[in-house]
Formats: sequence, structure tokens, C-alpha cells
Amino acid sequence: MTGAILGASLGGLAVGTLALGAYHPNCRLFGPVIGRGPRRGRALYLTFDDGPNATATERIAEMLELHRVPAAFFMVGAHVERHPDLSRAVARAGHEIGNHTQHHLKLHVSGPATISRELEESHAALLAVTGRAPRSFRAPHGLRNPFVTFAAHRLGYTVFGWTFGVFDSARPGSDEIRRRVRARLRPGAVILLHDGDGYDPSGDRRQTAEALPGIIRDARDAGYEFRPLGELIA
Ligand SMILES: [Zn+2]
Repeated sequence: MTGAILGASLGGLAVGTLALGAYHPNCRLFGPVIGRGPRRGRALYLTFDDGPNATATERIAEMLELHRVPAAFFMVGAHVERHPDLSRAVARAGHEIGNHTQHHLKLHVSGPATISRELEESHAALLAVTGRAPRSFRAPHGLRNPFVTFAAHRLGYTVFGWTFGVFDSARPGSDEIRRRVRARLRPGAVILLHDGDGYDPSGDRRQTAEALPGIIRDARDAGYEFRPLGELIA
């Protein structure tokens, strides 16, 4: 009786733990994930997911160049194939280019064959278009399972999570996006923003682009320095 109850409890615990690993972007249960940089110092890391996108990527890249800010772009392979020029421009500007799967699938419910295909197709697209093999990966929505870790490691990737996002993709207004980032700044933060829409190739991300100059100014006024995400790759 007690054993059965204990067994049921442990079973519940295991399911709960696996769910934590699948749903928490920085949970290390399925292998190492980098969700934050050094807590000493004043480094920040800007990251943009789900692009490239015609409404925002070029403007964001221009802003970054103007203010001499490095960033990382976790790109969707299908969007890269749709916008090769934008992808190349971001890569040529020296930003980190990461793999964000081919079709922005929710990988935690996918099997090993689908997961491998999603990562490998996107890897091939990024390499073909930018001439650079990506070395970092971020799972769509941070959703992972053990097969994701295997596939990412087979490609030699460092897996990234994030310190905070601000739901910029819900388009709360550029001032609100800026305010939310300012309120959550902390040393070593990996900041999640979106220059694209993982599903809709023409999704509107202009608010994020409009918020960016203010985000950069606020961070610098608070004594922070934007650093390349690649510094966190072992
Ligand atoms: Zn995404």
C-alpha cells in the first residue's frame, strides 16, 4: 500500500520534473543551457528570435550598427530561405547567427527524427545563405526534451535560453516594450526580443524595432554594456 503510494508519488514527481525541463527555457535537466551571463560586471546580451522579417530585421540591424551594439539572431530556417539578403546582411554585420529550427516547431512533443530534421535543415539553410555554420541553438518557446539535446550536441551547438522576455511579440506598444526591458535589466541578462514571427513570415515586429533605440539608451544610462553572445559559447 505504502509502496504503491510512494510509487505513484515518485511517478508524479518524474512527470513534474520532465514537464519542468520541457517548459522552462533555462532548465538544465535535458543538458546545459545558458540563460544568463556573468552576474559580476555590467554585461547585457541582446537576442532577437523568429526572423528574418521584412518589417523589422533591416531596421534593427541599422540601429545596432548606428549604436555599435552586438546582438544574436536566432533565425527560422524557412524565413532565412525567404529572405536570404536580410540573413546575409545580419551575418555580415558580425552578429551571432543561431539556429531556431526550420519551421518553429514546438519540439517538446516531437520525436527524434522530426527534431533532427528541424535542426539539420535550418543548419543547412543558415550555412548556405550566410556562409557561416551556426554554433548556437535556441528552442522555439524554449520547449525541449532529451532528443533536442542530442540533436543540438550532434551539431556542436551551445544551447541558449534567456534571462527575460517582455512579450514584445504581443505588440503592447514600443514605449511599453522599452519600459518592460528597463524594469528588468540586471547584470549578465540575456534579453529575448523578436525581429520576426515564428509562424507568420509577414508578422509585424515594427514595435520592437521602434523600441530598440530607447532600450539601448536606457541600458547605457544605467551603466550597462552590450556584449556579443558568442562570448558565452565555450
Ligand atoms: Zn521563436
